[in-house]
Amino acid sequence: MEGKRVVIVGCGLAGVTAAEAVRSVSENAAITMVDESVQVAYARSGLTYVASGKISSEDLQLKSNEYLTKNLKARLVTGRKVSTLDVEKSRVIYDGSGGLEGEDYDSLILATGSQPAPLDIPGSEKPGIFRLWSIRDAESIRNSSQTSKTALVLGASPLALELSEAFNSRKIETTVVTEENEVLSGYLDPAAGALVRAVLEEEGIRFMCGRRIERVVGFERAQGIVSGGEVITADLIVATGAMLPNSALAQTAGLKIGRSGGILVDRRCASSVENIYAAGDCAEVITDLFRGPQPSRLASTAVRMGLVAGSNAAGGSAESQDLVRNSSFRLDGIDICTVGLTATEARSIGIQFIESESSEYQFAFYYPGGRNLYCKLILTTSGVLIGAQFVGPSSSVWGNIAAMMISHSLPISYLSNLETSFSTLTQPYWPSPILAARRAEEILHLG
Ligand SMILES: Cc1cc2nc3c(=O)[nH]c(=O)nc-3n(C[C@H](O)[C@H](O)[C@H](O)COP(=O)(O)OP(=O)(O)OC[C@H]3O[C@@H](n4cnc5c(N)ncnc54)[C@H](O)[C@@H]3O)c2cc1C
Repeated sequence: MEGKRVVIVGCGLAGVTAAEAVRSVSENAAITMVDESVQVAYARSGLTYVASGKISSEDLQLKSNEYLTKNLKARLVTGRKVSTLDVEKSRVIYDGSGGLEGEDYDSLILATGSQPAPLDIPGSEKPGIFRLWSIRDAESIRNSSQTSKTALVLGASPLALELSEAFNSRKIETTVVTEENEVLSGYLDPAAGALVRAVLEEEGIRFMCGRRIERVVGFERAQGIVSGGEVITADLIVATGAMLPNSALAQTAGLKIGRSGGILVDRRCASSVENIYAAGDCAEVITDLFRGPQPSRLASTAVRMGLVAGSNAAGGSAESQDLVRNSSFRLDGIDICTVGLTATEARSIGIQFIESESSEYQFAFYYPGGRNLYCKLILTTSGVLIGAQFVGPSSSVWGNIAAMMISHSLPISYLSNLETSFSTLTQPYWPSPILAARRAEEILHLG
């Protein structure tokens, strides 16, 4: 029996995962993958380390072209941008070598990712402001940093801080300028953000928070910015910031688009048009926690959605669970993890909540050289965990426990009564999350 014709637009993390899922459900599906880039199937999340010179761009290859074409038996069309989606004829159209070419599908998976939003700063059109989105960007930053003595990083997201830390460790005098009042806003509440900033400041990075960037200065090239009337110049300027889902193709074809501009999908990753699925950064993820679909923008959600979209496109019946935005990163050797809602977000969507914090030394009290683990828990007034933030050792382990509790609406007593281990060099008798959970219970009982 002939298999389905499955076309996947985008050969990044979500696209590759979807192709693997298609093949695992159907041995005879005819898979075609189209990507506008010639360099495909690489891990974008490692670009910071290419930019900092710690690894080479080849190290980022998720899967080789040979794996895609021989093992997955996919037809790979690279360097071709899909410009039109004709939902009536079930066909995508791209610029082929001899003019426009069409590809008919039984199932289509859109995995077109996202891209940095254009900068809204006068003068930012001048050359000399780097963005970090592709391998080429990462290599350009790495090359430019080799001769730079000063760097300016605009924005204070995890990516911005990872880059700043990398520049600083190479003795490049680094300044971070952000309009937000604290670093990592959107990921952490201000107290946790301040903890991270203090560590990076101690390493020598200069922070200018709550500062509007008025304009870019420089003659032929960008040489600095003006903020609060002050001119800050640098040899190297990198701008980070908002990401926009690549959903124009879907929007023009009439697919429903969500509030953040991503393609709206259901739990099956099915779009509003039959036989069209979407996964990864171009789509909005299902989540009850945030009271409505949310942008994906995480590698971890791209793979989960890719798996569901690929299975269903091949004729399977997969469903994704509610995603709780479990996100972790490491800065200056400190692990940071954030799951679910921040207090700022909970407030903005009108949820009544309580919060509880704890910060305990992670080694046994008698052993020197350890670090504190900061923990903040956010709970509804009925005692259900809806958010957690961790800064310090074992953050992502606790983050995964919090993610499980949030996903399954487990009572906070599961955490306060958890039997944790003790070890001189890894965990005290009462780790911070246990103490924060007990404090939360006290607050709830008092209330
Ligand atoms: C520097 C950086 C660091 C990051 N670090 C982390 C991290 O630590 N943890 C984390 O969870 N996430 C991280 N992310 C986010 C993560 O990389 C993304 O969420 C993930 O790559 C999304 O995968 P995707 O397949 O949806 O999109 P992508 O990997 O971007 O793939 C999309 C593909 O679609 C192609 N495409 C787009 N439009 C078309 C078209 N019209 N026709 C043909 N092809 C098209 C593109 O060329 C691209 O290859 C980071 C991102 C960046 C940029």
